[in-house]
Amino acid sequence: MYLEQDCRFLAAGADPEPARLVIVGAPMDFTVSFRTGTREGPRHIRLVSAGLEEYSPELDRQLDEVAFADWGDVVMQPGRVAGSLGRIAEVLRPLYRAGKIPLLLGGEHLVSLPAIEEAARVYPDLAVLHFDAHADLRHEYLGETLSHATVMRRVCEIIGAGNLYQFGIRSGTREEFAFAREHCHLYRRCEAPQLQELVQRLAGRPVYISLDIDVLDPAFAPGTGTPEPGGIEPRTLFEALYQLAGLQVVGLDIVEVCPVYDPSGATSILAAKLVREAVLLWAPPR
Ligand code: MN
Ligand code: MN
Repeated sequence: MYLEQDCRFLAAGADPEPARLVIVGAPMDFTVSFRTGTREGPRHIRLVSAGLEEYSPELDRQLDEVAFADWGDVVMQPGRVAGSLGRIAEVLRPLYRAGKIPLLLGGEHLVSLPAIEEAARVYPDLAVLHFDAHADLRHEYLGETLSHATVMRRVCEIIGAGNLYQFGIRSGTREEFAFAREHCHLYRRCEAPQLQELVQRLAGRPVYISLDIDVLDPAFAPGTGTPEPGGIEPRTLFEALYQLAGLQVVGLDIVEVCPVYDPSGATSILAAKLVREAVLLWAPPR
């Protein structure tokens, strides 16, 4: 396995065997369109997680009560996109096959592609919930079909565009929005009634959640490569996750945290808290 580990997420064990939810880092940032640095995301999210409590008052649950582990980072092949994505797929494949829930820490958004592709192999009926400022639906970007700007278009090719649900999207080309209008479900905001309807519609179906940190307003999450003004606030995103509690989540990711653009560390802390709440929501009791 192409894995390395220096520090672990708050209260996480190292052994994926007894865990049902397994954190895996994917420190890749080779295809970003604007500013690099998301490869430092997984490390920083783990480091600052030490500042959080293990207990969530919102969920009345704490980390030592759930079966989760942190398996470390996938060792990337710098500059080699396909090779690195292949390594992510190889690390995640046995987790899905064993019925475990991977929680991938990016890294740029392209790392979600192998995670979703492997999930769809095990769960052919997969639906994807995508929270992002950007549609990520370009067919290609600067001649490349594998990019963080094209990731959801590639996902559409795997699961069918009708199974992609996007929230918070406020940036993209005219073509991307036209594609989304015709084929997917794109919501420019992140509002409770739409989410409620979605929860009912997807009841019993396997769901993958992909969370690009830039769905949040740059005022709250400036530590990201392509910040986009006019975003939602953290409270809205936490409430959205709590609303999704009943879904059968089979995999998820938090991507595009770029610590170098946020010397306060607040973006990484926000990401770490999202990770904690996701672990408490979807890792079963020990
Ligand atoms: Mn994205
Ligand atoms: Mn984005």
